[in-house]
Amino acid sequence: MYECPNCGQNLKFDIARQQMHCDYCDTVMDPYAITEKHSAREVVDPAYTGTNAALIDEAANAKPIETMQVHIYTCPQCGGEIVGDVNEAMVFCSFCGASTPLNERMTSIRRPEVIIPFKKTKEDCAREYKKLLTKAMFAPKELKDPKNISGFRAIYMPYWVYDFTRNAAITYSGKHCYHRGNYDYTDHYKVTTNISMQYNGVNYDASSSFSDNLSQAISPYEAKEAKPFTTAFMSGFYADTMDVEPSVYEKEAKDIVCDHAADAIMQQQRSSKYTVEKESVKKALDPKTNKSVLAMFPVWFMSYKTTDKKGKERVLYSVINGQTGKAAADIPVDIRKYVIGSLILAIPLFIVFNMFLQLRPMFLSIAAAVISIICMISLYAQSSQIAAKEMGSDDAGLSSINKRNKEYKQALKTREKWEAKSIWKANAAFFFVPIILCALLILFKPVHDAYYYVTVIISGVCDCFMLTDIMRRYNKLATRPLPQFKKKGGDDSANITGNI
Ligand SMILES: [Zn+2]
Ligand SMILES: [Zn+2]
Repeated sequence: MYECPNCGQNLKFDIARQQMHCDYCDTVMDPYAITEKHSAREVVDPAYTGTNAALIDEAANAKPIETMQVHIYTCPQCGGEIVGDVNEAMVFCSFCGASTPLNERMTSIRRPEVIIPFKKTKEDCAREYKKLLTKAMFAPKELKDPKNISGFRAIYMPYWVYDFTRNAAITYSGKHCYHRGNYDYTDHYKVTTNISMQYNGVNYDASSSFSDNLSQAISPYEAKEAKPFTTAFMSGFYADTMDVEPSVYEKEAKDIVCDHAADAIMQQQRSSKYTVEKESVKKALDPKTNKSVLAMFPVWFMSYKTTDKKGKERVLYSVINGQTGKAAADIPVDIRKYVIGSLILAIPLFIVFNMFLQLRPMFLSIAAAVISIICMISLYAQSSQIAAKEMGSDDAGLSSINKRNKEYKQALKTREKWEAKSIWKANAAFFFVPIILCALLILFKPVHDAYYYVTVIISGVCDCFMLTDIMRRYNKLATRPLPQFKKKGGDDSANITGNI
């Protein structure tokens, strides 16, 4: 807490002013000019053995890890942890959406080196969110409820920010192809170029509770705007804790940098008569990681709890980039809305088809059989994706933690099999009936029209059931199972078996 020098009340970081502000006496102060009185003491602790001690990167070994004391709140339901320098009790959890008092304690965490302060206010955030939802035609209307929108929380998410450089002469292979007489010639060369490359601010989220697909959806962050960290920026805000090692995303970050640099080199090479292979350039580039810096980036975060058909609770996340306002959300489809929408669309289609085509019942029955095959293929295509999402393996950070045991991989496989089985069980009848009926028609060619019409109606109903199941499973992909975190260590397998 930061005491206002004027009236002793709590000074908070004010987004609109980009300054510290006292709500009571309107005092405005520079975040770097104030000193804290009570909490969030910043300490240098060379013998640091806090929760993140195992995650200290090698580069940082040269200097002692700086830590800071924070209030950390743990959700009794999901184990999610959130840091807060707020003057009120925490009564709901942002990760699982539970309305429950969170347990508070003081602890040391690694001190970030830089921060991008919030630029977008809660009003900006609500506006961006509404804009996103107007584009989602079939979204359930509860998502637009203003009560939910007020649940957006300003959370600083930990990010690893990488800098890469390479200043050297690099050699890669190139060739020169030409045609003379009746022969094609290819000369192979070694091309040597002096390069000087520097990439700053390549960033990845460093929290396993912030899923990669969300952080990617609201990227990029302009890391250039990052400021030296001071805890004053966090006054009145929340923060997630870092629990992913910098090495997890380093390779991917390096790959992106190499890809970009190789493109630039090849662009220059185009004017010369030599062609070069991109892979060879990328390999030669081999940039050095200058440093990986722990940063805090602003995210407006909201969770919304829902129940699926079987009464199991699911959670939806909506996130907004607190710097740029870019929004992303888990948006399921309201199946009723979807069916009504499709019917409305079907009427003009039917009229158009009727005008230009004479649809024969035989053709319709073949079409229904083909549709049921396509439905089955797309259902199976979803199954491994669903398994991955349910098990959290679509997040590299979370996987890096989970992969520590073999049981996890086994559980993922079991889960995939289980998903496939459930698809088969739910749809086998609807899949076979149109195909069998269609085959019978082809085989016996009945004279009476009624056979054809009955077949088309039955096949159509079967296809509708399969399409609804596709929607239902799509909704499973668009929502998340309630999270189970284990940031405090303990039983590693707790997260794995509980989900199935
Ligand atoms: Zn004041
Ligand atoms: Zn929770």
